[in-house]
Amino acid sequence: MSVINKEGRIFQWGHDRRFNAYSNYFRSLYGARVQKVSIDAGFTCPNRDGSRGSGGCTYCNNDAFNPSYCLPEKSVSQQIKEGIEFHKWRYSEAVSYLAYFQAFSNTYAPVETLRKLYREALDFPDVIGLIIGTRPDCIDNEKLELIKEISGKSYVAVEYGIESCYNKTLKRINRGHSYEEAVEALEKSASLGINTGAHFIFGLPGETREEMLNQAEIISKLPLKTVKFHQLQIIKGTAMEKEFQLNPADFQLFGWDEYLEFFIKFLERLNPAIVVERFTGEAPPRFLTGEGWGKKRTDQIVSLIEKRMEELDTWQGRLYKY
Ligand code: SF4
Repeated sequence: MSVINKEGRIFQWGHDRRFNAYSNYFRSLYGARVQKVSIDAGFTCPNRDGSRGSGGCTYCNNDAFNPSYCLPEKSVSQQIKEGIEFHKWRYSEAVSYLAYFQAFSNTYAPVETLRKLYREALDFPDVIGLIIGTRPDCIDNEKLELIKEISGKSYVAVEYGIESCYNKTLKRINRGHSYEEAVEALEKSASLGINTGAHFIFGLPGETREEMLNQAEIISKLPLKTVKFHQLQIIKGTAMEKEFQLNPADFQLFGWDEYLEFFIKFLERLNPAIVVERFTGEAPPRFLTGEGWGKKRTDQIVSLIEKRMEELDTWQGRLYKY
């Protein structure tokens, strides 16, 4: 829905950007820019240690996404301190921070360990909340109760790696969980009033472009507050890199022009109530196999997509079927 008044066009999320943007969402909650600071708290992952699977997801190399200040040898407080210094240099405007437990599965430990680590982050000055990245099979009632308890006092969101709505894909990339388990985790979390996020990848092997696009309708029905999307990037040293080298024809990696048009079509079909945090991923070029998209930074990509949406006079949810 959009309203045109003499100042311009205002969408149902309350501003004139053509999608329900994460940065604006936090601005509306806190009145200022809020910045995420990543943490590697030394967790591992049940899809690596043998309890759920071994070898991990075929595309996984956490080093490709972890900022350099994130090292599990450092305490949570030290990582937040260094992260804030890093971001202050880049974004002088940020005044509040979200501690982002990012690396591996950040609910994969006993509840008392989680309580201690989350508390340490929340006690750091200027940290107003937590984002907890995890797998759908790393959550249970006790952990959700802890998160609910913290949610009562600070902003807290659990961000689930879901990656695809299709079990055939999840199997192929060795995720070690099903789509149904992801839905169950989201529903349980949302029923307790916990903010939920999810992460998806476009371009996974075995999926057609049409199947990828159809996920907009499926994702739109999930109890999600926020969502992140990445285009598939093949990271050096992963099982997927080997697969790619053996059978490149199995992979249809998005070129930039194609992704731009695809992603806009996807956004047009996505529930406008879902806040969109990311459109693309940005692994450093030294980790990438293949060409990548040149030197485009995430903020430039967002501007290019918004500019194209202006040209097409379209917006998130324009084709969403209520
Ligand atoms: S669940 Fe996450 S950390 Fe574990 S193997 Fe998959 S991508 Fe890597």
